Amino acid sequence: MQAIERILSEVDRAADEIVDLTADLVRIPTVNPPGEAYDACARFLGGYLERRAFGVEYIAAEGRAEHTTRHPRVNVIGSRRGGPGPVVHLNGHIDVVPAGDGWTVDPFGGLVRDGKIFGRGVCDMKAGIAAAVFAAEAIERAGVTLPGTVEISGTVDEESGVAHLAESGRIAKGRTDYVIIPEPLNVDRICIGHRGVYWFEVTARGRIGHGSMPFLGVSAIDGMGRLLQSVREILMPALASRRTAVPVVPPRARQATINVNGIDGGQPVGGIQTPCVADLCRAVFDRRFLIEEGFDATKNEIAELVARVAADTGAAGVRFHVRDLMVVHPVKTPDDSPVVAAVDRAIRRVLGRPAELVASPGTYDHKHVTRIAGIPHCIAYGPGELELAHQPDEYCRIDDLVNATKVIAVSTLDLMGASVP
Ligand SMILES: [Zn+2]
Repeated sequence: MQAIERILSEVDRAADEIVDLTADLVRIPTVNPPGEAYDACARFLGGYLERRAFGVEYIAAEGRAEHTTRHPRVNVIGSRRGGPGPVVHLNGHIDVVPAGDGWTVDPFGGLVRDGKIFGRGVCDMKAGIAAAVFAAEAIERAGVTLPGTVEISGTVDEESGVAHLAESGRIAKGRTDYVIIPEPLNVDRICIGHRGVYWFEVTARGRIGHGSMPFLGVSAIDGMGRLLQSVREILMPALASRRTAVPVVPPRARQATINVNGIDGGQPVGGIQTPCVADLCRAVFDRRFLIEEGFDATKNEIAELVARVAADTGAAGVRFHVRDLMVVHPVKTPDDSPVVAAVDRAIRRVLGRPAELVASPGTYDHKHVTRIAGIPHCIAYGPGELELAHQPDEYCRIDDLVNATKVIAVSTLDLMGASVP
């Protein structure tokens, strides 16, 4: 039997183990915020890899404000070295979003039913981590010598995770050749990047006055209302008219967007009220921008809109201030990247159909790999359906999980230079 055939049948044979590992990971409630059970989950995954003869490192995010005694930020990396060939790094985040309401099953029970595994974080992205582990394991069990090195990391949220590993040089150009992030993008899709993010806070300041004579004060809430109206009537239609050439999914996210994350102003609602004109109102906005727009133009457009509202008689006397909260630049894998070609070949081999190239509406750790570690050859590919992430009754289909494991195994070997017929 050919090496690839043997690897594929080893994945099939390991199906129950892949499901068990996924369910066991789901049962460790690594909820963020605040960052529960990260250490337990990292140690569990590390122990699992160690028993399978991976060299295991634990890298805590020392020096990061969120790395505390109560909520330690611990990352784990397992390495299996073969020949001197390329280093393929498979990275999954171990944190999950809070369960939220509306579940009909235990979100941390790891229930397996009707060909699916249920639980918070199962598709985003504990199934992906299990797929990475068994991709490497199936190659080993098939008796195929690795031409290079495979690394599997379980990382914690955002800055303490992949960003920390990249900044400390553990994931770096020259040391790491290819990175595959098994985020849930559907089993036949390769994700080649994401849109940019600009979070900013707008503060509106007015002048306090007696609520019975509002004409003697200046309402910051009215001023913010004016800004929101301009966002709706001027900015949103402009954003809707801009389309990216990058294949962002779902298609409605192929345009620039803006969302109001939150707003507060005046007196706390629900408290004891006093008759006062609100002198302060703040709102946080989430602007997703296209690679074609770029950040500078995005930021200028907001500044101009705010200035225009400030000059408007409808907001007379209100002073506005814009403060940047977070900027993530868009990323895109080069069209001719070997990692795109290898995963495409593997998808054709395993699923018998070509891969669909997509980009993510939100960001993921790709940005740290590209921007901090300087590695252009990064994609996201993993089991699970994008639309189910963060939903109640989140699940991952077992057949998708098994197929994704096969695809990752075949692509890993391909990237190391083995010929994949
Ligand atoms: Zn994710």
